[in-house]
Amino acid sequence: MQALTVYCASSTALDPHFAESANTLGRGLAERGIALVYGGGSTGLMGVVAEATKDAGGTVVGIITEYLHDREVAFSRCDELVVVDTMRERKRRMAERGDGFMVLPGGLGTYEEFFEALVGRVLDEHRKPIGIVNDHGYFDPMMAMIEHGINERFIRSAIRDLLVVDRDPIRTLDLLINHQPPEFGAGDLIPPLASSREGGT
Ligand code: AMP
Repeated sequence: MQALTVYCASSTALDPHFAESANTLGRGLAERGIALVYGGGSTGLMGVVAEATKDAGGTVVGIITEYLHDREVAFSRCDELVVVDTMRERKRRMAERGDGFMVLPGGLGTYEEFFEALVGRVLDEHRKPIGIVNDHGYFDPMMAMIEHGINERFIRSAIRDLLVVDRDPIRTLDLLINHQPPEFGAGDLIPPLASSREGGT
């Protein structure tokens, strides 16, 4: 793995304990020679992970929209700052540049980015591993929502094999690096009617 796309909070109003795992992840990336690819922001956990990566001698690639860039919320120490026109373009470039995805606690932007990466994997648009740092159990309700979808057969149970989930950022990172992608092709999407008790995505 040469680069990892990280999705995480822009909020500055967080309990300080959430900064610890973002900081640890940044250092862990630098120590492993893995470049950080992220939204290019300087606030919240985005800023923490980028600062930590740089402080530990790592490489930071920020991908940001012109709108956000002009409002000076961009992280000034990026080794590479890619400025694009739209959020859609930004998400596409972020997903392209990393060899895997890592999700730290975040809000709506992070949820959206995570679900887009997951749906892309389910639809076989990519085969990159996806890790979730369930810091302080932040993602317990989201994981419960996914389980609810599986129990009600809206989501196939095989989705569980696509995700690497751990509370510890370094354990999540190392599991992600060594993750063997399970077969999960778009060809499996519509199982034969008679034999199937499985649902949609
Ligand atoms: P949120 O979880 O709602 O705080 O949004 C954070 C996610 O959305 C990050 O992973 C970014 O890719 C993107 N994002 C939201 N706000 C910003 C910002 N001010 N600067 C850069 N990226 C942002």
